[in-house]
Amino acid sequence: MTSLSKLYPWQTQVWQHLNQDAQRMPHALLLHGRSGIGKYDFARNFSQALLCVDKNDQGFSCGHCSSCNWFNDDSHPDFRLLSPEQEVEAEDEVVSTKKTKKKTQISVAQIRDLASFLSLSSHRSGGLRIVLIHPAEALNLASANALLKMLEEPSDGVVFILVSHQIQRLLPTIISRCQKISMPIPDEAQSMAWLEEQGVVNAKQQLAYLEGSPIKVFAEQSQFNQLSEVWRLLAMASKLEPHIAAPALIANSVESGIIALQKWIYDLLAMRLGQHNRYHLAQADVLKVLAEKVNLDRLFVLQKKCNELRKLALHPLNHELQMESLLLEYTRAFSAK
Ligand SMILES: [Zn+2]
Repeated sequence: MTSLSKLYPWQTQVWQHLNQDAQRMPHALLLHGRSGIGKYDFARNFSQALLCVDKNDQGFSCGHCSSCNWFNDDSHPDFRLLSPEQEVEAEDEVVSTKKTKKKTQISVAQIRDLASFLSLSSHRSGGLRIVLIHPAEALNLASANALLKMLEEPSDGVVFILVSHQIQRLLPTIISRCQKISMPIPDEAQSMAWLEEQGVVNAKQQLAYLEGSPIKVFAEQSQFNQLSEVWRLLAMASKLEPHIAAPALIANSVESGIIALQKWIYDLLAMRLGQHNRYHLAQADVLKVLAEKVNLDRLFVLQKKCNELRKLALHPLNHELQMESLLLEYTRAFSAK
């Protein structure tokens, strides 16, 4: 078991709460809360434990029975995971390639495929079958309505577990069919303690940059080193060369590049307005100097463009050129003219 598949310390109570009622398991659970707090890992652990034939008295799976082995091999016959697979239609088919299409929706076909799974009995007498849906807001109207029918007429021994970062995007009729579980958010001390246990260095800085999500910090440690290079480039302000800086910003993805720029702009504005920098704890001095000379109007225009472009980040356009043009605007925000 990797450290990431264990229960996070801030989830102990909710785990106990759910296990107290293990005999009266509802047909559908909705685990909701902000992104990056370990809801999906929790849902997987809970699913494995529900299927395990030899779980311990705290309700944890044994990790070595046949059921656990199947689960860990992603081949459990009584478990289905539904995640987005439908491809976004590109506006222009000519430039679209498989590589650039991103999966954002859970399709109605995926839900309909569940019908045969739900009509079978479990592979173990008296056992459960579990459908995990992640993230539930990826259901579109058609697939949500198809799921609703299944929730309204629950098959015996089937548990639906929905995981959602944005519960407000779910159909109210779906929400009302589920037992809602508000997933706990780790406070800073819990996050720091856990990250230290994982041996993460510079945890405080990374936690600030990733908006308090210890799990994102753990998962994106290697990218954080790359960010130092991005910040070094952005600190050059008007002397930054867009064609050199653009590849560094989009090294991971164009979206993470735009996010890096958005967070940098956010802190520049914050400091200009006499507030604290929120994301870049170690760059306060640099940001302060830049904040004093930046042209606010141009920075606002750039901020708006970043927001617009982020929405389009899934589209198969020329990402490097887009980033270069943003960075060109960035340098202009510091030029005297
Ligand atoms: Zn087991």
